[in-house]
Amino acid sequence: MFESSSKKTNIVGETKYIFVTGGVASSLGKGIISSSVGKLLQARGYNITIQKFDPYINIDPGTLNPYEHGECYVTVDGQETDLDLGHYERFTGIQTTRANNITTGRIYQSVIEKERRGDYLGKTIQVVPHITDEIKRNIKLMGKKYKFDFVITEIGGTVGDIESLPFLEAIRQLRWELGKNAVAIHLTYVPYLAAAKELKTKPTQTSVKQLQSLGIQPDILVLRTEHELNADIRRKVAHFCNVDEEAVIQSMDMPSIYEVPLSMQAQGLDAIILRKTGMPVGETPALGPWRSFLERRKNATEVVDIALVGKYDLQDAYKSILESLAHAGTYNDYKVKPHFVNSEKLTRENIADMLAGMSGVVICPGFGQRGTEGKILAAEYARTHDIPAFGICLGMQMMVIEFARNVLGYADANSREMDEKTPHNVIDIMEEQKNITQMGGTMRLGAYDCEVRPGSRTAEAYGQTHISERHRHRYEFNNHYIGEYEQAGMQCVGTNPDSNLVEIVEIPTLRWYIGTQFHPEYSSTVLKPHPLFMSFVKAAIGYLKDSQAQDKKD
Ligand code: GLN
Repeated sequence: MFESSSKKTNIVGETKYIFVTGGVASSLGKGIISSSVGKLLQARGYNITIQKFDPYINIDPGTLNPYEHGECYVTVDGQETDLDLGHYERFTGIQTTRANNITTGRIYQSVIEKERRGDYLGKTIQVVPHITDEIKRNIKLMGKKYKFDFVITEIGGTVGDIESLPFLEAIRQLRWELGKNAVAIHLTYVPYLAAAKELKTKPTQTSVKQLQSLGIQPDILVLRTEHELNADIRRKVAHFCNVDEEAVIQSMDMPSIYEVPLSMQAQGLDAIILRKTGMPVGETPALGPWRSFLERRKNATEVVDIALVGKYDLQDAYKSILESLAHAGTYNDYKVKPHFVNSEKLTRENIADMLAGMSGVVICPGFGQRGTEGKILAAEYARTHDIPAFGICLGMQMMVIEFARNVLGYADANSREMDEKTPHNVIDIMEEQKNITQMGGTMRLGAYDCEVRPGSRTAEAYGQTHISERHRHRYEFNNHYIGEYEQAGMQCVGTNPDSNLVEIVEIPTLRWYIGTQFHPEYSSTVLKPHPLFMSFVKAAIGYLKDSQAQDKKD
């Protein structure tokens, strides 16, 4: 499904390293710029990867609240990572691994382990050189071990943060060591002062000065702006910041993040990188499939409304689900309009209103008790009104609980996660999880195989019966109840061949009612939308058309 990250071709000889830093403000879209650079170089035939360094002390974002850090993205090898890795995969189709997201916590952990082992032979361990060396080792590993042509390294946070200093020092050293094989891109913000009707470059100048004071001269500046930057402004920035005029690139707000690579290409960002690293520039790739995706996206004007039932009404918490729905919408020639429905606010009295007009319902993943009864209500409503419904991880578990309560007649059915003493533990703790006390990195994580029952709705959607999907959970379907479920109409159509764990449930008599214990949203990309999302959105469009036809009749 993906291009392998361990492809061992290196057509450039020595690996080239591209560093992406940000200044002035956070959330300027470093992840999108890094992904776009990756996409453009890849389109020229280069073998690329993108890694992110996060300056916080947590070992990984797995223990972070989505309010703090948005969605936690999971790689195939089971690393819980920053959501920017989702962009890297969606833009480039490459597969990332634990080597692609490293935090200050992981760097320190590894240095401290080495110190305890005695690897440092009595030396005093210091930020420079030990921490910086460990950072450099992790950057160079990508080139050395996997032989990538280009390694793009994004540094989280903004220049000036205390936490990012060791990373910037490591980049300073690497640029010196690597010479022409390294390029530094700095992303800043150019605010528009409405009263003065002027774009202001001072914050950019200040940010570049700050970077220079750390010994890093950026080669390329990407300026995030809401208004077109004219030649005078570019010249001024180039002049003040010691950067070539052609290397001052603007990044305007776009209707879609997927337009950014085209805008970067039109301004020659990839060509500049190639020139700076002494590579032949050659012809500009046409990006045909990418352009036709955007074309299709633009032409898809009819809207299908889909509810996301979850406890966070926060875009970033369900980032990959939103993107997967958007991809599937485009390839079904519709615009998916997502609606956040806060599951904590759902009641039996208001559910019809809250879900009115929805042609599909996604019951979202999550942890803990909060908002779960609302998810169960949503599952019931979708099942009894035959609205296409897609339960993902905790969402699937809620579908299973709802079915036990309302169809199997176990009114007290629950997951052990919500009620440890439930007599009908249709969702139970996994055997190997029972004695785990540490929270971080101990769930069932990463890609596992799944066998799908031939003839099922799910098999039809995938077009195959052997699949592999990514997981992030501690609890599972309790196999003790399989017989009862199957008899009553909820089929367990996907299982892991080694452990026999149930991975997929569906009610085949309904339009589209499928729950997956895994997270399909992590593997939908722009050029390869996920088959389950494709099929779900198609069913939602079918539902919409039927209700429109019904309305006409009435
Ligand atoms: N809380 C559930 C579990 O641990 C589901 C997790 C999820 O939705 N990612 O099994």
